[in-house]
Amino acid sequence: MATAASIRSAQPSKTMGEFDLIQRFFTRPTPRAVLGVGDDCALLQPAPAMQQAISTDMLVSGRHFFPDVDPYALGHKALAVNLSDLAACGASPVAFTLALALPDSNPTWLEPFSQGLLALADAHGCELIGGDTTQGPLNICITVFGEVPHGQALLRSGARAGDDIYVSGSLGEASLALAQLLRQRQDQDQDRSAETQMPAPMAQLNAADLALARQRLEQPTPRLALGTALRGIATAAADISDGLLGDLGHILERSRVGASLETALALGLLPRQRYSATAAAQLASAALRPTVLQHVLSGGDDYELVFTAAPAQRAAVQAAAHSSQTPVTRIGQIDAEPGLRLYEPDGSLLQHQFASFDHFAGG
Ligand code: ADP
Ligand code: MG
Repeated sequence: MATAASIRSAQPSKTMGEFDLIQRFFTRPTPRAVLGVGDDCALLQPAPAMQQAISTDMLVSGRHFFPDVDPYALGHKALAVNLSDLAACGASPVAFTLALALPDSNPTWLEPFSQGLLALADAHGCELIGGDTTQGPLNICITVFGEVPHGQALLRSGARAGDDIYVSGSLGEASLALAQLLRQRQDQDQDRSAETQMPAPMAQLNAADLALARQRLEQPTPRLALGTALRGIATAAADISDGLLGDLGHILERSRVGASLETALALGLLPRQRYSATAAAQLASAALRPTVLQHVLSGGDDYELVFTAAPAQRAAVQAAAHSSQTPVTRIGQIDAEPGLRLYEPDGSLLQHQFASFDHFAGG
């Protein structure tokens, strides 16, 4: 699509034409789709007895990623965050479209970007069936199409009082990495926009530890196998893109219930043992406890699943975790009473003001 004002500049033609670019980097065989890239529409044939699950996520340069981020990792993440939404619904991926605004058509950037994107797509049998390409500030918008057996999608609205609350994998590492990367950039005076989001005091990771945490930030793993294994077991689920409390909060709202969480169990979600002894000690220290809690409870970008299931399903949840090779941790339970309560090990209530990340909050 082109507007009159942008007609002359809309094509990313600095180094290669729009159609060459699509042909070279984004046109692939699509054995599952009836029709892929190249026509006005792609065609998908819905499988019998399946419902389609559809989700869109946009990544904006400077907002969701550093403009100089590794393009391979960015390609991975752009699709991963979308697949994560399918996972949260218990859906399996089928196909996706890619809408790209690019400042220029630089093949040395596009090559690794498309490789990161398509490697993850191939790993999950998710076919690139179309998109749009235009010149503009770097912006990546993906729509994924998935499928789930009729009536079996996991929704946010199904949690019931008495249900257990679980989280997959680990939490807090992406946020830990982001805080330190933002600090580094601030110190270099490159970025003054994020000051308000930094917890203090901060952990100081060495280069190797930072690289480990950064991997979680930049190349998250969508929990697709767990999501499908939880069909018929979980009563509600959401993926954690904006922080545990915020995303669990969405389940509570939609299900009209409340929750009690144990801070000690939440703290255990940050896998300190993966890091050097120095970092592990720091992360276990009393001085950093509030910081670590904040990373775990309200740090974003983890792309784990938070879900609920009846206590009678504990063995089934463990079996789903095992079959999907995805660890899960029980961190609390759903209450009839609205609100989210955090209990300390001594039984006292933690006064908290942990906010999830909201793009429009506080300017
Ligand atoms: P139209 O002008 O009819 O919308 P385009 O000229 O924009 O079509 O795109 C031509 C074909 O290339 C279409 O099939 C479209 O889906 C596909 N396409 C465009 N950009 C991308 C992209 N970034 N990734 C994958 N397919 C793309
Ligand atoms: Mg188009």
